[in-house]
Amino acid sequence: MENFWEKKTLSQMSSSEWESLCDGCGKCCLNKIIDDETEELHFTNVACHLLHSKTCQCKKYEKRLKLVPDCVKISLDDIDQFHWLPASCAYRLLVEEKPLPEWHPLLTGSKSAMHTGGHSIRGKIVSETQIDPENLEDYIAIWPAE
Ligand code: SF4
Ligand code: SF4
Repeated sequence: MENFWEKKTLSQMSSSEWESLCDGCGKCCLNKIIDDETEELHFTNVACHLLHSKTCQCKKYEKRLKLVPDCVKISLDDIDQFHWLPASCAYRLLVEEKPLPEWHPLLTGSKSAMHTGGHSIRGKIVSETQIDPENLEDYIAIWPAE
């Protein structure tokens, strides 16, 4: 049987289908740096202070947009910005007409394979409260973009 994400476009999905696409990796909650000259985007391993380092979930999901002005609600209105998402992000993958990875929770039924396979932020981050923001460049990391 065809999966809903294979037979529907993003705009045809219900809100619960849309939400279920998010694997909960937490990578989109990492601080990013944009190079002034090249406009290249770099991920860091420095996380938003509301990101839980073990569950990889937002600690204040319902209030996040009020509490963190930089927090981005991923929606179809911003589809032209999806290339800023990690390459493993389901929303970006579907826009690029690529399949979901084999470890995606919708395919495996849980987040275990994602975490054990190293596809989430678990065990890899520091909180933005623990660093000097002036030194953010020292925390540039390649893995979140993958
Ligand atoms: S990067 Fe994509 S899949 Fe991962 S938590 Fe963010 S929105 Fe969800
Ligand atoms: S406030 Fe936004 S960026 Fe921060 S952890 Fe929550 S969802 Fe992620």
